[in-house]
Amino acid sequence: MKVTVFGSGYVGLVTAACLADVGNHVVCVDVDAKKIETLKAGHCPFYEPGVDDLLVRNAKAGRLDFTTSAADGVAHGEIIFIAVGTPPQEDGSADLQYVLAVARTIGQYMTDYRVVCTKSTVPVGTSAKVREALGSTLAGRGVDVPYDVVSNPEFLKEGAAVEDFMRPDRIIVGTDSPRPLELMRALYAPFNRNHDRVMAMDVQSAELTKYAANAMLATRISFMNELALLAEKVGADIESVRRGIGSDPRIGFQFLYAGCGYGGSCFPKDVKALVRTGHEYGQTLQVLTAVEAANDHQKHVLFDRIQAYLGDLSGKTIALWGLAFKPNTDDMREAPSRVLMEAIWAAGGKVRAHDPVAMETTRAIYGERDDLALVPSPEVACEGADVLAIVTEWAVFRSPDFAAIKKLLRTPAIFDGRNLYAPKAVADAGFYYESIGRKTVG
Ligand code: NAD
Repeated sequence: MKVTVFGSGYVGLVTAACLADVGNHVVCVDVDAKKIETLKAGHCPFYEPGVDDLLVRNAKAGRLDFTTSAADGVAHGEIIFIAVGTPPQEDGSADLQYVLAVARTIGQYMTDYRVVCTKSTVPVGTSAKVREALGSTLAGRGVDVPYDVVSNPEFLKEGAAVEDFMRPDRIIVGTDSPRPLELMRALYAPFNRNHDRVMAMDVQSAELTKYAANAMLATRISFMNELALLAEKVGADIESVRRGIGSDPRIGFQFLYAGCGYGGSCFPKDVKALVRTGHEYGQTLQVLTAVEAANDHQKHVLFDRIQAYLGDLSGKTIALWGLAFKPNTDDMREAPSRVLMEAIWAAGGKVRAHDPVAMETTRAIYGERDDLALVPSPEVACEGADVLAIVTEWAVFRSPDFAAIKKLLRTPAIFDGRNLYAPKAVADAGFYYESIGRKTVG
C-alpha cells in the first residue's frame, strides 16, 4: 500500500520504517529540513534500538523516502498518518496546532480519496477538529474530495519501539465508517497474524483509550512511589510489597517499581492533558491530579536526601549515573535527572554525569557549563565526586565494581533512585546506601 507519514519523530519514523519493512511504500514528511537531510543521509536523528537498520534497509530497497514537500506526501499516500508532536500548553492541555496544520496541508493538496489517520496522542474531539480543518480547506479551494478521519493511537514504548510496533498488544482503530476500517485492517494485517488485535471502536473511545492507558500506568507508578515513602517510615521494604501484590493476577507485576519519578514525552503531558479535558467537561479527575502531584514530589526526593546528607552543596560534586528518562533511549523530555541536576546547580553544587546514549541530548539542552561534566564512563563520573546518585536503570549500572567506586568517591555514599542493588551487599561493600522505599543501610 502507499502510505505517507507526517512527522518524523519517534512515532512517525518507527511507524514509517515498520510499515515499509512489510512491503508498503512509505513517504515521510517533516518540516524540519535538517532532520530530512539526516534521514536521507541514512542516519536516524535519535537513538532507538533497531530503527537505523530498518531505515537504511527500506530506503535502499526504494520503499522509504523522506521529503519536506507536503504536496508530494499528500499525492503519495492513500493512507496519511499524522504523527506530529502534541506538546503541553501552559494550562496542561495538548497543543493541537501542529496536528491541525497538517490537516489543513492535506486539504490544500488532496485530489483523491484519503484516509487521514491521527497517530499523535490527541484529546477527545480532535478527530472532529481534524475533519473540520481539512474539510474547510477543501471548501476554500472549492473542491469536493471524499476523505475519512480515523483515530489510531500509538502505544509503542521508547527503547522497545520497533518490537512494540511489530508485535502490538492491540491496534486501536477509531472510526464509524467501514471503508477506512477495511483499509486499516489491510494495512495492519502483517502485524496481526497470530490473533486479531484490531479493536474497532468509535472515534471518541479510541482517543480516550490512549490517555486512559498512559494515565493508568502513571497512576501505578505514583501509587507505588507514595507507598514507598510510607514503607520507609513504617520499616517495610517496598520491593517485598511489590512482589507480594504483583503476584496477584488481578494486579500483575508490570509498572509497580518505586523510583525517583516518571518522565518522558508521554506520561507527564498525557496525565496533564487528561486532567485538563476533565476540567473542560466539568468532570474533575481527582485521582490523576494526585498522580501528578505525587510525581512532582517524587522527582525531588533524591535531591532532598543528598542535601540532608551533605548539608550545604556549594562546592560539592555529585556523580550522576543516568540522564535519559529511562534506559535504551536518549530522550530527556521531563527526565527526573533534569530536576535533580537543576536543584543541585541552584544549591551551588556540580554534577559529573554519565549516560550510555543521552549525553549529546544533555549537551544540546544545557550547553557547556562549569557545573556539568559529561564523562565517558560510570567510573570517571565518580572520580573526585562527593557522593553518587543513580537516576536511570541502564543495564550497565547494575553490577558495578563497588571496591573501585569506593576509592573514587570522596564519601562512600550512594543515593539510588531505581533500587538497583541489594542493600546488604552495598552496605557490606562499605557504603552508606539510600534507595526508595527500603531501609537505609551503612
Ligand atoms: P517528536 O517531537 O519526536 O516528533 C514530531 C515531529 O513532527 C518533528 O520531527 C517535527 O518537526 C514534525 N512536525 C511538526 N509539524 C509538522 C508538520 N506540519 N508537518 C510535518 N512534520 C511536522 O514527537 P513524538 O515523540 O514522535 O510524538 C508524536 C506524537 O505521538 C505525540 O502526540 C506523542 O504524544 C505521541 N506518542 C509518542 C510516543 C513516544 O514514545 N514518543 C508514544 C506514543 C505516542
